[in-house]
Amino acid sequence: MIAEVIVNSSVNKLNKTFDYEVPEGIHAQVGMRVLVPFSNRKKLEIGYIIGLKENTDYKCKPISKVVDEVFDQEKFEIIKWMSNRYFCNISDVLKLFTPPGTGNDTEKVKIKTEKWVELCDGTDVDSIKSDKQKRIVEFLLDNKEAPVSEVLMFTDTTSAVMKTLEKNKIISFFQNEVQRDPFLHKVVEKTKKLILTKQQENALESIKLNEYDKYLLYGVTGSGKTEIYLQAIEKVLEQNKTAIVLVPEISLTPQITDRFLSRFGNVVAILHSRLSIGERYDEWRKIKNGDVKIVIGARSAIFAPLTNVGIIIIDEEHDSSYKSETTPKYDVREVADKLAEAYAIPLVLGSATPDIRTYYRALNNEITLLKLDERISKCGLPVAEITDLRDELARGNKSVFSKKLFDEINKNLKNKEQTMLFLNRRGYSTFIMCRDCGYVVKCGKCDVAMTYHLTKNKLLCHYCGDEHQNVIICPECKSENIRYFGTGTQKIEAAINKIFPEATVLRMDVDTTRTKNAHDNILNKFKNEKIDILLGTQMITKGHDFENVTLVGVLAADSSINISDYRANERTYQLLTQAIGRAGRGEKAGRAIVQTYSPDEFSIQMAQIQDYEQFYNIEINMREKLNYPPFCDIIIGVLSGENEQEVEVSANKLFELLKPFFEIYRPVPAPISKINDNYRWRILIKTQANDRNMEILKERLKEFEKIKNDNVNLNLDINPNNMM
Ligand code: ADP
Ligand code: ZN
Ligand code: ZN
Repeated sequence: MIAEVIVNSSVNKLNKTFDYEVPEGIHAQVGMRVLVPFSNRKKLEIGYIIGLKENTDYKCKPISKVVDEVFDQEKFEIIKWMSNRYFCNISDVLKLFTPPGTGNDTEKVKIKTEKWVELCDGTDVDSIKSDKQKRIVEFLLDNKEAPVSEVLMFTDTTSAVMKTLEKNKIISFFQNEVQRDPFLHKVVEKTKKLILTKQQENALESIKLNEYDKYLLYGVTGSGKTEIYLQAIEKVLEQNKTAIVLVPEISLTPQITDRFLSRFGNVVAILHSRLSIGERYDEWRKIKNGDVKIVIGARSAIFAPLTNVGIIIIDEEHDSSYKSETTPKYDVREVADKLAEAYAIPLVLGSATPDIRTYYRALNNEITLLKLDERISKCGLPVAEITDLRDELARGNKSVFSKKLFDEINKNLKNKEQTMLFLNRRGYSTFIMCRDCGYVVKCGKCDVAMTYHLTKNKLLCHYCGDEHQNVIICPECKSENIRYFGTGTQKIEAAINKIFPEATVLRMDVDTTRTKNAHDNILNKFKNEKIDILLGTQMITKGHDFENVTLVGVLAADSSINISDYRANERTYQLLTQAIGRAGRGEKAGRAIVQTYSPDEFSIQMAQIQDYEQFYNIEINMREKLNYPPFCDIIIGVLSGENEQEVEVSANKLFELLKPFFEIYRPVPAPISKINDNYRWRILIKTQANDRNMEILKERLKEFEKIKNDNVNLNLDINPNNMM
């Protein structure tokens, strides 16, 4: 028997099969991951069996070892489709289907030990005076024993407190195998299903199980979409099937996941990037063993080895995190669609602000539209007001807060109601310029302005992460007249502390959420300790449900308008609607203040009145006129290399090859013309990405491989998130 094997490599030339002999005693089948000797490399390489046959014309080596089984025939069809659509090797796609932590070597995740703690016999709880000590002891009474790290997290105490308890012989430490169940000590109250409103019921009834169809559940924020997901899943479980739920990475917080855990208990697995590799591996294994009925996760959870899937749900389907920006550059909505078709099951997309492309397809009956146009809470949608920052400047108000927002924040502080402030920029200032000669501090390796970070007192490149000493004297003209332009979250935090000294503030952005549980900790703190103001980037606008938040302030609605991307209006509308939707989700009515320099932009005006349909009508007309998606697909090719001349020459060769077949723009330096010392040129193709056109494109690209400069890389992306 001969196996056709694909080796694990991103090298374009190796995207083909090699024949290997299947030795006696080894059971080989399609979908297996194997180890094979490859060319004259010393180390065995990972490969995947994608075909079996009786004979070969080549003299071939034997397979060394079978590792595990990764995919079946159904999945393999999708894998091939992905490799084709997203311009990458089959082995790049296969990596997504293999368990985490075993990517490039086959070593299993090792068993580690960590420090645990338990109560000593005969502890008398009543004799303990200190609050903190008491919390630890009570926690241990409930849980018997637990890892030290978790005790600290759940009791909000310090290891010093534990040391004291140990000294007093109340607790003792021991080493235990690392327990990687992320909800081990999580106590969630069981909830029962709610009685649906008429609208919810209609929507739920419309979703037909056991047959392939796509649904867009379009419902304003707080209209009860999640409850519909929960009840649809319940029906699926009753049929002994399983469910996949995708949510944006950013909103994978206890706020969302607890609702699933409390309804379904321990048959839920949650996959997100903040789990350690070991934890992810464990979740993966649990899924594979069939212990899990529901997988909730970010984009890549679609590849979890769940069997007998009965429904796929994608919440906040418009979210840009559903498109991968690294190879394979897949759009998970497209992959989910293929899976749903293969399994003959429903795919449900939910959003308050659907992707223009999705809504277009719903209106054209390619997707079944299910509408929820009322909020569950009696208060209805928040009232939003726009303030024109130019007027504020004219009136001499140079603060980051308009008079109106300032007054409203004060009102909330007085009424002990909570406020969320939203700004789409982290750091302190966006860029630093010399006022005399116009010199802007840019990253040496990337063609982007560096951002000043106050906490570090350094300049940071948000692309490559390089740090740069703060600039006090202009390196060009030696002037000391350096100015910090733009406003980031750090600067606003400083401003709030100054303007509202009595207010408690939390900041949430990439910089404050690097550690594992930081996300949850900040949100819990905001909720439980009734912190006055939560300030953050867009990660605070997603999916959170705080009933005491009655005011939302958008500090600068302009930052997403001025990006050079055809989706700028759409992004602005979505962002503002999501942000405004955070207010007034409980008993009290909500209000929002949107600050902007461009109050006439229709995306801002439509978001103010929360009228998606009107927004859509204006936007779709523009898209049609300019021939942008959904009226075509956009494929961007970025050519990069260390020698700009070589890059340019190759770019022009590619242009000549494609020009006769496609609507294509002349190659130009990319908007970010250099990243990490690599020059970048960009070509932009507008086409219908159907099978025929993709076939032509592939043929042309093969030709290009033959004539391009070896030092130049070409990277293609279909309908990318950003055009930079
Ligand atoms: P969405 O997902 O559309 O933002 P949610 O499902 O989070 O909306 O619902 C908003 C709030 O209304 C939640 O607190 C939820 O528990 C509550 N809710 C949803 N459906 C019902 C219902 N049928 N009856 C009572 N409360 C409901
Ligand atoms: Zn200068
Ligand atoms: Zn850089």
